[in-house]
Amino acid sequence: MPDYTFPYFAIGIAKLLEGNRYSSELRYALGQLTLKDWFPQIVTASGLLALCRQPIETWWRGEAADSVDVLLVGDRLSESAENYLNTLRKESRYTDSISGIAQLADNDLFRQLLLRLRQEDNRARAQSEYVQLRRFLIEHAFATKSDIRNAFANTLLITPSDVRDLYMRADDMSLRDPQANVYYNCQRCGAVPIEEGIPQPLKPQVCGAHCPRWREGWEEIAPSKHLLVLRRGVQERTLIPGVPELRLLAALRDLHAAHGTIGEPVLWPGIDSYDIAMQVGDALWVVDVKDRGGNFGRFLKDIPHHPDIHWHRAFYVYPHEREVEKVQVQLDWTEILSDQAFLALVAQEA
Ligand SMILES: [Zn+2]
Repeated sequence: MPDYTFPYFAIGIAKLLEGNRYSSELRYALGQLTLKDWFPQIVTASGLLALCRQPIETWWRGEAADSVDVLLVGDRLSESAENYLNTLRKESRYTDSISGIAQLADNDLFRQLLLRLRQEDNRARAQSEYVQLRRFLIEHAFATKSDIRNAFANTLLITPSDVRDLYMRADDMSLRDPQANVYYNCQRCGAVPIEEGIPQPLKPQVCGAHCPRWREGWEEIAPSKHLLVLRRGVQERTLIPGVPELRLLAALRDLHAAHGTIGEPVLWPGIDSYDIAMQVGDALWVVDVKDRGGNFGRFLKDIPHHPDIHWHRAFYVYPHEREVEKVQVQLDWTEILSDQAFLALVAQEA
């Protein structure tokens, strides 16, 4: 009989994050774990959540999903857990369990738009509108309806209302600093939630020391009733990882301008098959930008080939200030470098 403990545990944890402490999925999974008698004794929800922030392989002793490295990052589902739950959602056995999990729904709106563009016959148009949309989201944690209308006045495949759906009314969210009566927009992590009166960046690891509070990192935004803010799932999955992508793009454009042998870097070619592709001499290089550098062991895979994009070298590139431990992974096709090391390599090959 298949082991459902891990999927139901993951679903139960996602529901716990939404305040449902007694979901049937979590009760089932915890019951199974007690029967197996290998689970550490857990009494509180906070103890359970703390465990979920540890890499799965360090504490889960049963059958788990290979693709999930850790269930939670801070108080949110990890990207791998979210992707895993999304694949479960397609299996009818889990559909009822998962339909209500809000974070997945946020992210799914963007995913649906991506899939729709990938099916368009006019590939070039779909590609350029995709780039326009994703750039807009990365650069506009906050926007008004008229910002959106103006930016998407001439697109054919993406309507202003598609874009509007990726935002919420800022006033409805817990974002306004009650003392200063402003919102904060961080150049690295977007809209800053306020919890119990205190600004709490969504991802302190990318904000924190690199983006000191109250200084150049945070822009103050005056409240207005027309102000919209990016949905949290989109902020986490598109804006935050997008900031280092655009930073690398800008540096590569400078190299392109300085060296005739370096082609113009292309963003998200193949409608997001890679983050950046560029010609370096006679070779096509493709890059996936990672949020951090470190030893990810079995979770890092070679960058796949795309039927229409014939690359010669593939790289994972991470922001140099986000190297959490020395990278030692060996992959067959993919080289792993910090952005500084990568830019030096491009300049050297030029
Ligand atoms: Zn920040």
